[in-house]
Amino acid sequence: MNVSGLRDNFGRLHNNLRVSVTDRCNIRCFYCMPERDAAFVPRAEILTYEEIERFVRIAVRLGITKLRITGGEPLVRRDLPELVRKLAAIPEIQDLALTTNGVFLSELAEPLYEAGLRRINLHLDTLDRERFRQITRHDSLDRVLAGLETAKRAGFHPIKINAVAVKNLIEPDIVPLARFGRENGLEVRFIEFMPLDAQGLWDRSRVLLASDIIEILSREICPLVEVPDADPRAPATEYRYADGAGTVGFIASVSRPFCLNCNRIRLTADGHLRYCLFAIEESDVKPLLRGGASDEAIEEFIRRVVSGKWEGHAINSARFVAPPRPMYSIGG
Ligand code: SAM
Ligand code: SF4
Repeated sequence: MNVSGLRDNFGRLHNNLRVSVTDRCNIRCFYCMPERDAAFVPRAEILTYEEIERFVRIAVRLGITKLRITGGEPLVRRDLPELVRKLAAIPEIQDLALTTNGVFLSELAEPLYEAGLRRINLHLDTLDRERFRQITRHDSLDRVLAGLETAKRAGFHPIKINAVAVKNLIEPDIVPLARFGRENGLEVRFIEFMPLDAQGLWDRSRVLLASDIIEILSREICPLVEVPDADPRAPATEYRYADGAGTVGFIASVSRPFCLNCNRIRLTADGHLRYCLFAIEESDVKPLLRGGASDEAIEEFIRRVVSGKWEGHAINSARFVAPPRPMYSIGG
């Protein structure tokens, strides 16, 4: 590994890469995708598995040790276990994880486990079939729950549940989802609704804040105690239930931005490297990957992107501008 690592101009060291493998998805969560006519990148623009593997191997030489596969919905990309096998074989990767909506987990959990994946974040906002349909515009709750069971049986651990916290919508789901997590040994993580939806529906008044959820859970289930940060650079703040039965996490990107501790960069499915989820600018590495550039030239490219990273997304200031790409297209 290169000893100097990927440090930006604010002194932050980057060891975490998120790779989006597709911008396509089999459902249509309203806070991410439009209901119809979503714009997708032409297939020829999507990085091949060989290109992704090469990029990751180069990034690893610069100090990347944590990798998350995401999308769009990563499980709609053909032969995903093949990519997982390639990435799991890179010895420097200490943590390989996947974020999925779970609809295809019944079919893919075992092949993914067998390919070397051990950690999954499952996106699930509600256990109520009608609200699931309302949020995702698909009637797939049963498939997701069956997929979760298959993933547990396959041996995935830990499995975390991602729930997007939208005000005046998911309040009835908070307690049932948290109980479901406690009963099944899953950490539920509530993610504040971020201004990354394709239809421009986001408004600060539609964000259900972490502090409100903490209050609801403390009142309805049991008091919560903040867990001292095991990893201060992880975006989630963890709490444990005072009765000892499990933990719950909060990704409070709106009410408590964590830019100061950011250690992440993102590669979009079409090969654009981004230094922030909310970045306005991004840099296309495809011309290098497809144009015969040396590994050193790609290393230099990654360094340049990281050193140009901004201080933070300033989501709570008047200067904030939402990025031109919505969540599914960036890779969440
Ligand atoms: N399709 C997979 C999934 O749904 O988990 C992976 C990609 S998705 C873009 C990654 C995560 O982004 C999801 O788990 C979802 O919770 C979160 N997400 C999507 N849109 C969001 C938004 N506008 N605000 C906050 N989180 C969002
Ligand atoms: Fe698809 Fe995930 Fe976006 Fe929902 S959040 S539309 S599952 S990419």
